[in-house]
Amino acid sequence: MAAVQAVFGSWDNERAVIYRRMNDIPGSWGTAVNVQSMVFGNMGDTSGTGVAFTRDPSTGEPGIYGEYLLNAQGEDVVAGIRTPEPITRLEKDMPEVYKQFITIANNLEDHYKDMQDMEFTIEDKKLYFLQTRNGKRTAQAALKIAVDLVNEGRINHEQALMMVDPKQLDQLLHPMFDVDSLAAAKVYGEALPASPGAATGKVYFTADTAVEAKKRGEAVILVRLETSPEDIEGMDAAQGILTVRGGMTSHAAVVARGMGTCCISGCAEVKIAADEKSFTLGGKTTVEGDYISLDGSTGKIYLEQIKTVDPEIGGEFEEFMGWADEVRTMKVRTNADSPKDTINAIKFGAEGIGLCRTEHMFFEEARISKMRQMIVANTVEERVAALNELIPYQKGDFRGMYEALEGKPMTVRLLDPPLHEFLPHADADIKELAVEMGITYEELKATVENLHEFNPMLGHRGCRLAVTYPEIAAMQARAIMESAIEIRNEKGFDIVPEIMIPLVSEIKELVYVKKVVVDTCEAVLKAAGSDMKYMVGTMIEIPRAALMADVIATEAEFFSFGTNDLTQMTFGFSRDDAGAFLDDYYKKSILESDPFARLDQSGVGQLVEMACVKGRQTNPKIKLGICGEHGGDPSSIEFCHRIGLDYVSCSPFRVPIARLAAAQAAITNRK
Ligand code: PEP
Ligand code: MG
Repeated sequence: MAAVQAVFGSWDNERAVIYRRMNDIPGSWGTAVNVQSMVFGNMGDTSGTGVAFTRDPSTGEPGIYGEYLLNAQGEDVVAGIRTPEPITRLEKDMPEVYKQFITIANNLEDHYKDMQDMEFTIEDKKLYFLQTRNGKRTAQAALKIAVDLVNEGRINHEQALMMVDPKQLDQLLHPMFDVDSLAAAKVYGEALPASPGAATGKVYFTADTAVEAKKRGEAVILVRLETSPEDIEGMDAAQGILTVRGGMTSHAAVVARGMGTCCISGCAEVKIAADEKSFTLGGKTTVEGDYISLDGSTGKIYLEQIKTVDPEIGGEFEEFMGWADEVRTMKVRTNADSPKDTINAIKFGAEGIGLCRTEHMFFEEARISKMRQMIVANTVEERVAALNELIPYQKGDFRGMYEALEGKPMTVRLLDPPLHEFLPHADADIKELAVEMGITYEELKATVENLHEFNPMLGHRGCRLAVTYPEIAAMQARAIMESAIEIRNEKGFDIVPEIMIPLVSEIKELVYVKKVVVDTCEAVLKAAGSDMKYMVGTMIEIPRAALMADVIATEAEFFSFGTNDLTQMTFGFSRDDAGAFLDDYYKKSILESDPFARLDQSGVGQLVEMACVKGRQTNPKIKLGICGEHGGDPSSIEFCHRIGLDYVSCSPFRVPIARLAAAQAAITNRK
């Protein structure tokens, strides 16, 4: 009974809770115990025990793969007391038993139509199978096995698609740690797995030192309290990013995911020294230039160099993903803000851009000071002057993106900068900006203090900015239309710009900003003598907008669900700070998973579903999509399929995941 209870007890140990969260397994499932009579593999040289797979779990190569020990019990294999022999050795020791083993293994694979992981014991020449299950495998092996089983005529395309875990595809697109080096490494800390992949490099604490180190040819890990737009070049130079604060949808996480750079966020145990030259974690001090390693897929932090291996995309990938595209009914778009990200996402199969965050276009060093000048401008004239300098950058990027898209759709969102992400905070930055603007430090400091908000995420952002400063919306609409018309004329692509107004909660906000946009678009079209069509829509990311969706849909040609903000405002959890206490919620079984990573279907999802129904009531032709981070999460994608969204949009590196998850959703729900 103690053994039985130990198994049941294991369901709620910390590791099991973490494992379930990583693999989307509900705690309510519970576990089971099998009681079997014992057989003995340690009865002499006619006995033995082993573990074997029907195919190689690392590469997927067909053929029995495994280990066995003569005259031993399972524990001897597992505990590493003796070194096991390859399974083929059994053929020499007991040829009859080996033959029987191979026959049964093949039958099991045939029956389960999947690679099997089997445990067996031989007691005095009699073979016993203790257990069989579908074997765990690397992403490469998963694809090869699925494609091989189709080619062997054992399963069809849909069965193959259901065999591969979409999240596993990450392994194919990002570097991973070398298995042996990882096994020898010590974990010093763990936090949110904000952006996948493995990274190893020397620690730097500022964007500038990171950039310099990269120039010297070093691999860099950027460690920051949190990141802000001015860190963008440092983030770009880094192999990996570690932040003390932040959640799954705060700046570092969103930007790193877009870049495909490994990131761990919200590690409060990391204590950075005041001089930004060292940090301590788990009792060890790491100084600038020391090696550390991050696993952005598990959230584990190592204070040493660990060998990484580059991803390899085999020939099976394209074939397999092609099957997914045939089955899925939802489109997959990407969140991208630059021509480079757009090109990358299209390579991964994106069918358009679901969210271009225009404020992200101004993160770079040369652009951010113009953006800041625009934000701190005291008069319309000053603001227009700063905008005039920003618009050429923006138009250049739009042109590059329209060109890369070759007629695929793009939703461009008007500026939505939470001000705290853009305001200069350090005195040195304020001084520098004051000089550039030709005003005094005191003047600028006063403006910055005036703009300070206690709750910037609920502050003067989104369409509220365009209500106060309609000239911003007008300038952006002009840039979008002009670049679209130019590329259409130059390349002949069929472009229909989609202009999106963010953070709407009241129909009159939308009507007001939409008029500014439409008036500008019409003027641009007239001046260019163009007949180009365009669409104006909105984000649904405030609970009130979901409640009022029927009214809002009368003025919107599309809705895009911003589930990052919708989650933040529905739970009342700050997306930047919730990471700090969510762990207690998992430990106490109050929440099973991070609602910023996996959509809370019963609460936030209810608002999304209701908004779809209401929106279609008053506007049956309305296009519906999602662009929050949940658009790249398989379980959330399944929900999106069920409620009938037209598309999901996610960061470029998650596009293959979304394609497969959308295919699986279509198959599962058809059944
Ligand atoms: C959202 O809120 O879900 C969204 C996509 O917008 P952002 O993350 O830029 O606030
Ligand atoms: Mg938002």
